[in-house]
Amino acid sequence: MATVKLGKTGIVTDKNGFGALPIQRVSDDEAVRILQKAYDGGVTFFDTARFYTDSEHKLGLAFKGMRDKVIIATKTAAKNADEFRKDIRTSLDNLQTDYIDIYQFHNPSFCPKPGDGTGLYEAMLEAKQNGMIKHIGITNHRLKVAHEAIDSGLYETLQFPFCYLASDEDIELVTKCKQADMGFIAMKALSGGLITDSRAAYAFEAEFDNVLPIWGVQRESELDEFLSYVTNPPAMTDDIRALIDNDRKQLQGDFCRGCGYCMPCPAGIEINNCARMSLLLRRSPSELQLTPEVQAKMMKIEDCMHCGHCRSMCPYHLDTPALLAKNLEDYKNVLSGKVKVC
Ligand code: SF4
Ligand code: SF4
Repeated sequence: MATVKLGKTGIVTDKNGFGALPIQRVSDDEAVRILQKAYDGGVTFFDTARFYTDSEHKLGLAFKGMRDKVIIATKTAAKNADEFRKDIRTSLDNLQTDYIDIYQFHNPSFCPKPGDGTGLYEAMLEAKQNGMIKHIGITNHRLKVAHEAIDSGLYETLQFPFCYLASDEDIELVTKCKQADMGFIAMKALSGGLITDSRAAYAFEAEFDNVLPIWGVQRESELDEFLSYVTNPPAMTDDIRALIDNDRKQLQGDFCRGCGYCMPCPAGIEINNCARMSLLLRRSPSELQLTPEVQAKMMKIEDCMHCGHCRSMCPYHLDTPALLAKNLEDYKNVLSGKVKVC
């Protein structure tokens, strides 16, 4: 069993955290069963968000009466102090608890600080002083905001995408968090479905002792995979390194990381998934990407106004509108049967 200490929070937990976004898609009973099985298997860290519809409610049902046994992190996307106070009360009610271990600002476009005029950080501090939360965290997809959060000294944890396709800049954030004694919570450790070998994904995260990956779990088979890593954590081997190197090569060039830095799109296009649809179709079960909902999202690409916003925001210098068009063309060919994917 491998554990992680989340910097100055002092929280020590198993290196397999539970990402509770996907349990929105299953029934209360199924979610409770999965969450309790995760706990019984050694998982103690559970990450959710106000934004994940009924995910907090399901955590509340699962851990009622055993609150002190688990660590719960949730998030608010509040834009001002009033919304923040409302959100925190809702989170506490849903979670059936009187405290939250880590309360995080959910992917704000700026780094909330005292005196910035939003009142957000002041409301966060007030919640900490009232005992409603124990630690203050922030989640983000933007390197600039992440650096600002670390440099500010105002945050105890940072949650950021981190997987074996990480750039040197992403790795620098992990190092910087360690130096600042901040916990680093890794989201998208499977790169939103592009990484299909969870053993390799874990072995990469294991190379960073201050990183806590949270695995998005919906199905029992996925959970079983990660529970096996609680008792038997995979270590980096030559074979795994070769697999990672090969994936890095395959996913070089005009490959969208799904980071979402370029969003929101004024035409409402879900760029972070649509611009990598060809990869998702081939690297994950294709039927998941061919549902009427996903088809509707892909067809929205035709509404692109070529405003250039996404291209100017992409840290990987992708020609995003062209990439979207290329992915749509391939998608239509797959739908019509002209191109086969397994
Ligand atoms: S160029 Fe198209 S896809 Fe990109 S932000 Fe503008 S409308 Fe959205
Ligand atoms: S197009 Fe660039 S900025 Fe947008 S999601 Fe993909 S990698 Fe991120």
